Amino acid sequence: MSARIRAILPFLLLHAAAAPLAAQAAAGVTPPPPAVLEAVRQDVRYLASDALGGRLTGSPGADSAAAYIARRFAESGLQPPPGGWFQRFTVAPDAPAAMHAGVGGAEGTNVIGILPGRDPVLRNEVVIVGAHYDHLGPGGTFALDPDSTGAVHNGADDNASGTVALFQIARRLQSARPARTVVFIAFSAEELGLLGSAHYARNPAYPIAVTRAMVNLDMVGRLRNGRLIVYGSATAAEFPALLESLNRQYGFALHHEGDGYGRSDQSSFYAAGVPVLHMFTDLHEDYHRSTDDWEKLDLAGLARVADFTAAVTAAIASRPTALTFINLPPPAPSAGGGGYGAYLGSIPDMAGGVRGVRLTGVRKDSPAERAGIQAGDVIIRIATTQVADLQGMTDALREHKPGDLVDVVVVRDGAERTCRVTLGRRGG
Ligand SMILES: [Zn+2]
Repeated sequence: MSARIRAILPFLLLHAAAAPLAAQAAAGVTPPPPAVLEAVRQDVRYLASDALGGRLTGSPGADSAAAYIARRFAESGLQPPPGGWFQRFTVAPDAPAAMHAGVGGAEGTNVIGILPGRDPVLRNEVVIVGAHYDHLGPGGTFALDPDSTGAVHNGADDNASGTVALFQIARRLQSARPARTVVFIAFSAEELGLLGSAHYARNPAYPIAVTRAMVNLDMVGRLRNGRLIVYGSATAAEFPALLESLNRQYGFALHHEGDGYGRSDQSSFYAAGVPVLHMFTDLHEDYHRSTDDWEKLDLAGLARVADFTAAVTAAIASRPTALTFINLPPPAPSAGGGGYGAYLGSIPDMAGGVRGVRLTGVRKDSPAERAGIQAGDVIIRIATTQVADLQGMTDALREHKPGDLVDVVVVRDGAERTCRVTLGRRGG
């Protein structure tokens, strides 16, 4: 970088940060205070720095990130749960994604911080706010730029942005504590198949039964034209009205929709019967590439999404009654979804670790549900084909067509049972 550029860089960055601010002011939106902007900038710069090597689960960079997150949680007024800030788990050697990435057996670390509720009764119920902090490390598996394998995939938007938003949300809620307790979780191993959130959902700090909602932030750093996407708004009856009414103050071009089974950590909680939301500023050309760098983030937009999410969380965590959970039927089939054979409607647990495929749930009104297959079941055979893992199950289903009547053998509570299934058509 030439001396001249180095001399004017701070000015350029200031101007780069100022542009969205100007756009916000023009849109009548209050820009975040300079101190907030500076804190956000420092945090994303560190988490998305080359020094952290792209935060691949189990790597030294991921461990440094976890330590940093715990420190920032403490500085934002959160407390560690009884077991401490860190919830460690081992990535199962045969977890499909982990095998691809060569990190089977690695140690993942979820970071958990608690903001106790102010109401003596409702504080026994919780709302979770989460974001994954792991990313792709040197690229390769799951990266979209094979030519850059070996280069640090900094993951500034995916998902240093969501992780940093947690600190801002904690600071906001600290000053006006909600009635219910808020649990902040920075998940590990999301890129390996939602492993950290799946582990937490099986080993929660507070029972899932008293978990009233989960709000996920994954890629919230590239706000364009004020457009904010919120997935999961159909998972509770009250969500659409709640989002729209709060947005009057924040003025996003808000687009909310759908079920809770998106491609991020909220899925692990929706499968467990919890209403969920996923805040998202949409994909972009740097997604899963080594070019997803912090300089490209809209820091003011990130702070604005964090403030909006704090307001949504506060509204959910202080409402007198619980939300009305909606267990949705599967989404309409995506065009060209062929090649996968018949449809069963099971939701596999990507954690692996068993012979067969353990399920985190089954889709409503699906062939699996109609045949009595349940969350927790381990599928070990489909018709005459033994099922050792996810690939085996996909292959076994490919041998059948919609309408076929097949025996699916599952293990439940240690005993095998046979469920007679009429396989369906995707979306059927
Ligand atoms: Zn992500």
